[in-house]
Amino acid sequence: MDYNENNIFYKILIGEISCQKVYEDSNVLAFYDIHPKALQHIIVIPKGRYVSFDDFAAHGTDHEINAFFRTVQKIANDLGISTDGYRLISNHGKNANQEVPHFHVHLLGGEPLGRKLVKE
Ligand code: AMP
Repeated sequence: MDYNENNIFYKILIGEISCQKVYEDSNVLAFYDIHPKALQHIIVIPKGRYVSFDDFAAHGTDHEINAFFRTVQKIANDLGISTDGYRLISNHGKNANQEVPHFHVHLLGGEPLGRKLVKE
């Protein structure tokens, strides 16, 4: 699947749409999910144009992949949700109901999340 710039996270990345920013550096942007499923629900995206985790893992550079996942860990730590625990989710493709075709990780925490994948 080719990357299509006509997606909401790309528009956030280029500043066309605003977001509630949590963190930004040269590789990564993180912002609060507009429909939070936990007390803390952050979307973390790489600045590179990757459709999903599958695309990122296959085609991202070692530097991009390393920077991305280390930054997810740093954000969780900075938010103070590491000690009690958090959940990472990344939807790839239609069976996972991926809505936004720019690779992202959902970082959820700040409260007990239960055993299911996401709080309804
Ligand atoms: P996914 O199903 O993994 O593609 O999830 C997309 C997520 O993006 C959903 O949790 C939405 O609530 C979230 N979302 C959509 N638009 C925005 C936005 N403008 N700002 C922040 N989060 C958004």
